[in-house]
Amino acid sequence: MSLPHTGLLIIGAGPTGLGAAWRLVARGETDWQLCDAAPHAGGLAGSVTDEHGFTWDLGGHVQFSHYDYFDDLMDELLGPDGWLYHQRESWVWLRQRFVPYPFQLNLHRLPEREQWQCVRGLITAAVAAANDAAPPDSFGRWIDAAFGPGIGDVFLRPYNWKVWAHRLDQLSWSWIGDRVALVNLPRVVENIRLDRDDVSWGPNNQFRFPRHGGTGAIWRALAARLDHAAPGHLQFGRRLDCIDTAARVVTFANGQQLHYDRLLSTMPLDALVAASDLAPALTPAARDLAFSSTHVIGVGLHGSAPPHLTGKCWMYFPEDDCPFYRVTHFSHYSPNNVADITRQWSLMAEVSESRVKPVDETRVVTGTIDGLLNTGLIPERASLHHTWHRRLPRGYPTPSLGRDAALAAILPAFEARDVFSRGRFGAWKYEVSNQDHSFAQGVECVDHLLSGSPETTLRQPDVVNGRRSTPRAVAAK
Ligand SMILES: Cc1cc2nc3c(=O)[nH]c(=O)nc-3n(C[C@H](O)[C@H](O)[C@H](O)COP(=O)(O)OP(=O)(O)OC[C@H]3O[C@@H](n4cnc5c(N)ncnc54)[C@H](O)[C@@H]3O)c2cc1C
Repeated sequence: MSLPHTGLLIIGAGPTGLGAAWRLVARGETDWQLCDAAPHAGGLAGSVTDEHGFTWDLGGHVQFSHYDYFDDLMDELLGPDGWLYHQRESWVWLRQRFVPYPFQLNLHRLPEREQWQCVRGLITAAVAAANDAAPPDSFGRWIDAAFGPGIGDVFLRPYNWKVWAHRLDQLSWSWIGDRVALVNLPRVVENIRLDRDDVSWGPNNQFRFPRHGGTGAIWRALAARLDHAAPGHLQFGRRLDCIDTAARVVTFANGQQLHYDRLLSTMPLDALVAASDLAPALTPAARDLAFSSTHVIGVGLHGSAPPHLTGKCWMYFPEDDCPFYRVTHFSHYSPNNVADITRQWSLMAEVSESRVKPVDETRVVTGTIDGLLNTGLIPERASLHHTWHRRLPRGYPTPSLGRDAALAAILPAFEARDVFSRGRFGAWKYEVSNQDHSFAQGVECVDHLLSGSPETTLRQPDVVNGRRSTPRAVAAK
């Protein structure tokens, strides 16, 4: 008996898979099918409304686009009234105070000892760069080369350990691109002399957030539109269990099988390897794909946000007075993220976990509440309305030193069998793993399959993200 067949099978209805489907529909293609294990679209960019009527993202999500067509689609999907606009106000909490981001431009807010510790470090870094120091061989060394030991010790090293949950000498710095604001030494010193804030939230520094339904509303809207344009092509509750790349057959968890010509997978690459007939050859390389898990802790609160949090969007926490590395003021993003904004507000904290940074799941919520009290984000325990907790087994694809060699072994081996692994954990490239990048990876993969055009996002992250900054360039700025 012959198996059902599709031309292009897409696994996953997160931004990557939906981007691919959107492009197929736009190009008039009909011979494709998309399957997702989950009951709805969105993947890691989905949102949840809990039993108290509070909405949570799976970690603080902000739209930051590198593609005009992505922006146009966002406009169209939710309409002009569907978005709320905010200044991007981010802050760092340390030494019992808030310092505006970019941290290095606001050292005047630190105690005097740390101010000059940071400046001395910047001078050391500038001198080393002028003397043509060797390029750094890890992210830890990159921090020293770009910022020196002061900012490294006070903020960047402890913060990045908390985020990545991996030793910094095990990470590469290839992902940096436009993600870390670099240093202009005269401006740093001038800001200290004038005791002035130098913040990045000018009029052009806005971000937008869905008025209703959290970030997931975007992807639900796109899935609904695709379902309308291509009825029956999107199928939920279908988990890929194994894949025979030689026979081009996938088997789903319910035992059903499907024959395909080409496959675009957005499931985690290590899981794809494990599920495939290529596992014996590729498992050693897949072991070098490091990742961290993320605990997302939603904290519903009575009353209204304290005045010192007004306008703050998200905050970074490098110190050990709390388990989280970042907290998002989530009811500020939309009043509809709580059930009744006249009486409630909300915060959302993120805690990282890995094999080298274990987390006791039974204590992570209470530890978060203690941390919110320690850092003054909530005034007293009595203001707690309820909590919500979700562990994301895979939160961040770690840019480890072994990653690129692993990808160079795995991706071409699958592509030789017409299996294309793309997206946040599909391609495992943190530097192109936000929603816009992921969506673009899906679009570009379809264009590549249909007309051979290059996949710029996957192959040339620096091009889509802007030029990479080397420590030499830092010294010159
Ligand atoms: C904590 C956190 C914060 C973030 N912050 C931001 C931000 O501020 N801005 C931003 O733009 N992006 C942010 N992101 C990234 C954003 O969530 C991702 O870009 C996006 O979700 C990746 O899309 P994807 O389609 O590649 O993968 P995913 O969203 O992971 O989707 C993969 C899909 O595959 C499905 N799947 C997996 N295995 C199988 C299987 N065996 N069979 C069938 N289906 C399967 C899953 O159910 C899922 O729906 C953040 C992510 C996290 C975790």
